This record gives sequence, C-alpha cells and structure tokens, in this order.
Amino acid sequence: MRGYSIWALARNALTGHAGWPRAWRSPRPRERYEAVIVGAGGHGLATAYYLARRHGMRNVLVVDKGWIGGGNTGRNTVTIRANYLREESIRFHAEGLRMWREMSGELGFNVMFSERGQIDLIQTWAKLRDVKRRQVLMRLAGVPFEIVSPEAAKARVPILDLDGAKRFPVLAATWHPSAGVARHDAVAWGYARAADALGVDIVQGCEVTAVRREGGRVTGVETAMGFVVAPKVALAVSAHASVLAQTAGVRLPIETVPLQAFVSEPLKPMLDCVVNCPGQVYLSQSDKGELVIGGGADGVPSYVQRGDFATIERVVTSLAELFPVLGRVRMLRQWAGAIDLCYDTSPIVSKAPVDGLYLDVGWGSGGFKAIPAGGAAFAALIANDMPGPEVAPFALDRFATGRPLYETAGASNRD
Ligand SMILES: Cc1cc2nc3c(=O)[nH]c(=O)nc-3n(C[C@H](O)[C@H](O)[C@H](O)COP(=O)(O)OP(=O)(O)OC[C@H]3O[C@@H](n4cnc5c(N)ncnc54)[C@H](O)[C@@H]3O)c2cc1C
Repeated sequence: MRGYSIWALARNALTGHAGWPRAWRSPRPRERYEAVIVGAGGHGLATAYYLARRHGMRNVLVVDKGWIGGGNTGRNTVTIRANYLREESIRFHAEGLRMWREMSGELGFNVMFSERGQIDLIQTWAKLRDVKRRQVLMRLAGVPFEIVSPEAAKARVPILDLDGAKRFPVLAATWHPSAGVARHDAVAWGYARAADALGVDIVQGCEVTAVRREGGRVTGVETAMGFVVAPKVALAVSAHASVLAQTAGVRLPIETVPLQAFVSEPLKPMLDCVVNCPGQVYLSQSDKGELVIGGGADGVPSYVQRGDFATIERVVTSLAELFPVLGRVRMLRQWAGAIDLCYDTSPIVSKAPVDGLYLDVGWGSGGFKAIPAGGAAFAALIANDMPGPEVAPFALDRFATGRPLYETAGASNRD
C-alpha cells in the first residue's frame, strides 16, 4: 500500500469516515426510466452494468427491497465451475469462467477470484455413468475435465479418508482444474460501483409490489416509493420470481426451496481446491481459514432463510464420514437462502409472454458462477429484445414446447 493511502486510512478512521467518498450514490427513484431491473443481487447489478457499458442504456433503475447483495448473492458458497452435462450449459459457463478471470480488471475492484480447481467424489454407479457422459461433452466443448482414481483425489485432498466402512465408498473422482471461488460481496459491490459510475440509479430498501401492464405491454412497476414508468422491466429476484411475475399475469414453473450453508471456525490451510460430493456435502477453505460448507437443498418448499435439521444432519454426517479429521471442528455460522428452482434445474433467461417483461430467474443453487455471463446475456436480451444464441435454449417457452433442459449438474441436489 502506498504511503498516502495509509495516511488517508488513518485520517478517515480518526474522523469517523466523514470524508470517505461513497462507492455508489443513494438516489430517490425518478418518475421514468428506459428500463427497471428488480433485484440488486449479482444478476441484477451485472445486467445493469452491461446494459450501460455495452449497450449505452444508462437511464436504468436497479431497485431492491433489501440491500445490495443481501439475497442469495451474499449467502452463497461461491463455487464457480463449468462441469455441466448439457452442451448448452457447458458452453455458457465456460464463457463465464473466461469472464471471471477478467472481472477484477474490468470492474477495477478485487473480487478475489481464485482458480483453484474442483474435485468431485463419485459415490454411486449412477453418478459414475453420468460423469462419463459429462466427460465426453466437456471434451467436445474444450473444457478440461477428467475422471481420476480415488487415490488421485486423495493426493489432491489429503484430509479425505478412503479407509473404513462407509455408507457410500468413493468409487472414482473427477478433476475440473478451471473451477474456483471468488468473494461474493466483492462481486456485488464491484458491479454496483461500476454501474453507478456509468449513471445507473441503484435504490435499496424499496420493495416492488407489482409489475403493471396494459393489455399485452408492461408499463412500469409499483414500488414502496411510488409508481415508476418503464417500457422495459427485468426480473432478477431469485426466490421471489414467481410471486412478482404473477402480478403481471405470468405463471412460472419455479419452486422456492431453502438451501443452507455452514462456516467453520478458522483453521490452518488444509484444502486448496473445492471438494464436492454430489448431493451430500461440498467444501472449500476461505482465505480466512474457515471451511465454507454446503449440501443439497431442503426437501420442503419454503421462503424461510433458516433451513431444516434433516439437511444439517445429512451434511454433517457426510462431512464426518469422508473427512473424519474434521469431526471435532466447531461450526461458527449456519444460514439458508431461498433458491428458485425450475424442474429441469436449468435457468430461465427469456422474454416473458408480456411485451417489455424479461426474466433472469431459476438459477437455483448455481447462479453465483453465472453472474458475469448471465448479466451480459440478459443485458443483450433486454437491449435487443431478442436472446443471443448463448441463452436461447434457456427460454421460458421450453416448458410449453417440450424442450426442457434436464441437467445432472444443475441447480439442486436432484442428481
Ligand atoms: C446457501 C447457498 C449456496 C449457494 N452456493 C452457490 C455456489 O457455490 N455456486 C453458485 O454458482 N451458486 C450458488 N448459490 C446460488 C446463487 O447464490 C444464486 O443463484 C445467485 O446468487 C442468484 O443471484 P441473483 O442476483 O439472481 O439473486 P439474489 O442475489 O437472490 O438477488 C435477488 C434480489 O432481489 C431482491 N428482491 C426480491 N423480491 C423483490 C421485490 N419484490 N422488490 C425488490 N427487490 C426484490 C432481493 O432482496 C435480492 O436482493 C447458492 C445459494 C445459496 C442460498
């Protein structure tokens, strides 16, 4: 850090940060915008940034009932990967990986992207067959992904225990070297700051209560601060997508389910990649030394952000079984987010059947990694009123036309 920065830090600390410039403005919403984006999570903010940067649309409002990144973006376990089953998903997320590498430079904000690789432990024959198919499709898309032996997995993850009787022995593993993690808050803040600098208004603490339409066209949104006129309204509200879309008469095939996360006390460095046991437990170690742990979604649909005990038991049992060395580690925090799941576990990035209404929802347990590629693609869809080829397969009408995009590495534990 340069000398003047230290003095500036000290001066700000001693003067109650009175002269500290705000990272983004806090405006009142104007009467009218070119586009309103509902939801200041990673997707809404990235969309606003790319609308302004790439499409010259700066008369844009991002409005959130809570605070920037306070939804699933600030509650997730930050795994970034492209090891999907469907060619459409792999290509989309491979582009995402490319964008993650450039994000800190593009936003001028360190999002702490760490490309550390991911090991998946394969514990059932069905999953082994699935990853063999995924390996072929990943190769066709040119994304490195290989099946390795349990011993090779142990060499990368020394805390893994392969001995002893287990409910689910490790049959094989996969290695996905370009997977990684990033700092979730920094991603939201980086996009917010960059969008604000381009003229986008970000309004926090303002709920959108309804999307208004006249005939087949959107006219604006009803908010806690009054009606805002806009010919284009974009929903990036994750768990609340179906509720809000319903106000415009649009029914979405989305179910809302709690997904939990756990953080341990800080530990010495012991894990330098992401480890995932599909449907059971996954973990990585943060820069502070805490283990960041997740598992599958809860079984019962709900909007609560707590989570059930059955899931906690399942996650902790798998953790202790595969990594007995962690048996006495204390957990510091546990929470849940409410995730938005489509039944084919692929997202919806699409025009809605109401002119001027756009959807970027259904990301479930996998939308953090999709923030840059999803935001860029959604911005192009809003600006051009037409999806680009990378998101055309994720259209809403796939459910009506019989073209669901079933994933086995998608947005929940249903694989
Ligand atoms: C525990 C957990 C672990 C996860 N782990 C991963 C992972 O490892 N990797 C990964 O890729 N993904 C992961 N995810 C999924 C990922 O977090 C989400 O898919 C992603 O953050 C969705 O971003 P978003 O911007 O669409 O939604 P959000 O970040 O949820 O933002 C939506 C915003 O909309 C606002 N909103 C809702 N209704 C209204 C309204 N009526 N008016 C105004 N504002 C409204 C909310 O306040 C919220 O801020 C995980 C999720 C959870 C919960």
